[in-house]
Amino acid sequence: MIYLDNGATSFQKPAGVYQAVCKAMYRCANPGRGGYAAAEEAGREVFNCREAAADMFDCNPEQVVFTSNCTHGLNIAIHTLVKPGDRVVISGFEHNAVTRPLNLLGADIRIAGRELFCWEEILESFEKELKKGAQAAVFTHVSNVFGYILPVEQMATLCRQYGIPFIIDAAQSAGILPVSLNALQADFIAMPGHKGLLGPQGTGILLCNRLPQPLLAGGTGSESELQTMPAFLPDRAEAGTLNVPGISGLWAGLQYLRQSGIETICRREQKAAQLCGRLLAGFGFRVFSGAHQGGTVSFVPDMDCEEMAQKLAQQGICVRAGLHCAPLAHESAGTRNTGTVRVSFGHNADFCQILALERGIRRIKEE
Ligand code: PLP
Repeated sequence: MIYLDNGATSFQKPAGVYQAVCKAMYRCANPGRGGYAAAEEAGREVFNCREAAADMFDCNPEQVVFTSNCTHGLNIAIHTLVKPGDRVVISGFEHNAVTRPLNLLGADIRIAGRELFCWEEILESFEKELKKGAQAAVFTHVSNVFGYILPVEQMATLCRQYGIPFIIDAAQSAGILPVSLNALQADFIAMPGHKGLLGPQGTGILLCNRLPQPLLAGGTGSESELQTMPAFLPDRAEAGTLNVPGISGLWAGLQYLRQSGIETICRREQKAAQLCGRLLAGFGFRVFSGAHQGGTVSFVPDMDCEEMAQKLAQQGICVRAGLHCAPLAHESAGTRNTGTVRVSFGHNADFCQILALERGIRRIKEE
């Protein structure tokens, strides 16, 4: 199998991740819920992962809240900052995990930046919207459809300059690009554990620079005498039993990234995406590539996108077709009607995967 759908989830994880999940299932009970060895071992696993995440994302361990995916973290963050009717500025490349919670809350959504790969355009229109006043801003670090890396450092500076609280969606950047809570001074940064961080599905992280409003209330193993959620992090946002096997696997993913170096992985993915883009253009397809692009490349072939993905799947090549849960990004790029075929590389990106894709497409065209 040639797996090129890492934008959805990383599928071929480092061996240590599978081993850690399995080991935790054998050895770990409920963390923070008992003083016996198996509960203490669970507590250590969770703390070690929290500490490794804090180290990678430049914050304190208690600012790391474990969630079940990126959507969960985004919902906590959005519900904390946004009230019905609030004016919220977002980029033109947001995922439904941002736009649907905002719509559910009845936010007044303002879209800034719709031109692919153009930092000048997004910064100019983002500032224009912030100047008009807003209660919050939410923006993705990297577009999941086009691999467009947004100028988040500059956007964060603008938010701070205009005194507007903001949330960064690091779904497609965590584990691939540097993300520092301390440097960005975002109110919240949400990320999945199961994509670039190479952990199992059912894991995610919300980095908190302020106290979140709990989305769920329940047991935390702390302050059990109170009928309100604890007022301190991370307990305030971690109601119920944590996904300990998942968190152990995530810790193994973080250790792998630390050893391999995220810069090395990023370079590998970017190189693969550039090469792949050239190859796809050689077939005469409409390819979306440009400056500030990560390891994801989208294209519109000379046939239906779903059909192309289906025919590739029949040859064991896994790509994704359609709107990729981001209709807004397609609206911005003018591909709302067709969708795109998306090729997204992972930590193991290599030349053989690109050659296999080329062979696969050639076979489809020869049919
Ligand atoms: N934001 C972006 C940019 C994404 O690409 C995704 C998932 O593809 C999400 C949010 C949601 O992530 P999760 O599936 O972990 O909730």
